[in-house]
Amino acid sequence: MLNIAQRQLNLRAYYYFYKGNIDGIEGKLTKNAYKNFQKYTGLLVDGIYGKDTNNKLIEVIKDLQGKLNSKGYNLVIDGMIGDNTLNAIRNFQKNNGLSVDGIAGEKTFEKLNDTPSISTKYRYPVNFIAITQYYSNSHKALDLGWSASDGGKNQPVYACYDGVVITNSYASDAGNYVAIKHSNGDISRYLHLNSKSSLKIGDNIKKGELIGIMGTTGNSTGNHLHFDLTKNGSRVNPLDYLYVYSDQRVYSGSKNSVRYI
Ligand SMILES: [Zn+2]
Repeated sequence: MLNIAQRQLNLRAYYYFYKGNIDGIEGKLTKNAYKNFQKYTGLLVDGIYGKDTNNKLIEVIKDLQGKLNSKGYNLVIDGMIGDNTLNAIRNFQKNNGLSVDGIAGEKTFEKLNDTPSISTKYRYPVNFIAITQYYSNSHKALDLGWSASDGGKNQPVYACYDGVVITNSYASDAGNYVAIKHSNGDISRYLHLNSKSSLKIGDNIKKGELIGIMGTTGNSTGNHLHFDLTKNGSRVNPLDYLYVYSDQRVYSGSKNSVRYI
């Protein structure tokens, strides 16, 4: 059984059923919150916190945490409202133009439930496409370079699809890199950027929006973008999912490898 303070936290963050202070005391406001929650979830309305009410209260918060994770957050799904879940709710509300109150009510759930029908037609993350290394077992990514005559060495790197920024960091092998989680759970990563991206963790980003500039930071021997795509926990061949959009150009040597939208 959740302790009383935890029940209050859950019932406050979930549709604001509990409107009092988090004091761990089972007073009138708390009992009213039980009743309203029972009514809302179709349980027997007796204002008594029994096993069914407890299970339901854990279940709805787990569901909320799962929905937030599908939007790019990384919460532990434990059915308990804590600081991380509250911050994720607020952050999600802020990014979706909702009033930021840390309470998952009707409007927040509406937004959480709209799962945009993401096509798998990811856009190439650079506008001049020159493939310098293909996907293989020892290189589970696609390297995109440049050509002095055709596409500048410092070409910009763009998001392949809408998503949420989950990493913006530096590592000795990856150099400056950014990871974006998409609403279907896929993760795209952009490595060796010439400097740290100005994006922030939790930022919403759109397909074609700027991430940074191609570089050669980390374990890299020349200017290029190392792009990888993770689906259901495995790195897949980006060639199977990336499409050349009509405003993009392809280096002659790569023309037969790519797909066009
Ligand atoms: Zn690479």
